[in-house]
Amino acid sequence: MDSKKLTKRILIALVAGAIVGVALTFTPESFFGPLDKYVLDPVGQIFINLIMMLVVPLVFVSIALGTAGLGDPKKLGKIGVSAVVFFLTTTAIAISVGLGLGYLIQPGASGVFDTSGADYTPEETPPMMDTLINIIPENPINAMASGEMLQIIAFAIFIGVALAFLSEKTKGIYNLFEQASEILNWLITVIMRFAPYGAFALIASAIGDAGLDAIGSMLSYMLTVIAGLLVHAFIIYSLAVWLIGRSNPITFFKVFFPAMVVGFSTSSSNAALPVAMKTAQEKLGVKKAVSSFVQPLGATINMDGTAIMQAVATVFISQVYDIPLAFTDLLIVVLIATLASVGTAGVPGVGLVMLAMVLGQIGLPVEGIALIIGIDRLLDMLRTSLNIAGDAACAYIISERGNWNEENAENG
Ligand code: ASP
Repeated sequence: MDSKKLTKRILIALVAGAIVGVALTFTPESFFGPLDKYVLDPVGQIFINLIMMLVVPLVFVSIALGTAGLGDPKKLGKIGVSAVVFFLTTTAIAISVGLGLGYLIQPGASGVFDTSGADYTPEETPPMMDTLINIIPENPINAMASGEMLQIIAFAIFIGVALAFLSEKTKGIYNLFEQASEILNWLITVIMRFAPYGAFALIASAIGDAGLDAIGSMLSYMLTVIAGLLVHAFIIYSLAVWLIGRSNPITFFKVFFPAMVVGFSTSSSNAALPVAMKTAQEKLGVKKAVSSFVQPLGATINMDGTAIMQAVATVFISQVYDIPLAFTDLLIVVLIATLASVGTAGVPGVGLVMLAMVLGQIGLPVEGIALIIGIDRLLDMLRTSLNIAGDAACAYIISERGNWNEENAENG
């Protein structure tokens, strides 16, 4: 099936799923509960698992091949530094956009929010230093088994550098990796045929779960986050693609849209990674070596959509609890939220864990998260689309600007 047809099908499935989700909010829990548990949730989970199954091998194989393909470790360093600078800068901008809109729209200032029963126990986040030290895995098999993305990336880079240095001697392994990459890409295409069903089930379940009441009472907060996501996508990324990448941002979004839809339905940058990389390489013409290095890195350390949510949520909670924030608090939010997005992986719901860390740092009640938790899944879907668009925009810009030699990759 061609990709346009597939995108259309997924979109139709999302709209139908949303309608069914809204309809389900009118049915009693005794009807929605079992339907969600035995039909919607399993169908959605099967879809997510099918693509998650490919993520670890794909990231490993493509980064090893990408690194080997660049040949020169200096080039890899240049791509890495450019990517990290892009990610950190856009994340800091994203948080500022979120804070600005939070103060402009004031989502928590009006409306009645019952905070008396609010309760939320934050999960532990690993200290920043541990994250840095642990980038080099003690045991790569363990890293793969537990899906530790930064560790897998580091190990793959080492293998790639070795492949580049040993060149002729390791041609067999190089070819094996190339064939593995072919197999994984073929599987992605096959699995994506199931995407419309997965997308339908996931959106229906998310809306049915949240319920219309929750959505209604949180509408101003939701709209503020959505406004932030739109500003960031259509102004910040578009300007970056246009001015730095010297390319047409409309083409970028049009071509990358199907991958964003997968990010939306799975709420996971990692799950969307295989499709996002394939789309970037095959449709946007991003060099393989750049895409296979920048996008997995971005899926782990770059989450601008999540950063926007955190900024808006911080302002929202400060307004609901009537605890004004000083300017220094806002600077701390920018710093902590940027660092938090580096240390946490792109999986559903991780944004809330990061938010707990941010709120704790500036002395806002962490229980405030209980107010936004009900509708977070829906926002998670939207912000994940932006997260992966940011990773792809970065890869696209670096690829367009650089003169990346992929000799080895092509001749290998
Ligand atoms: N689900 C997001 C992602 O995977 C992270 C989050 O905002 O919770 O990119």
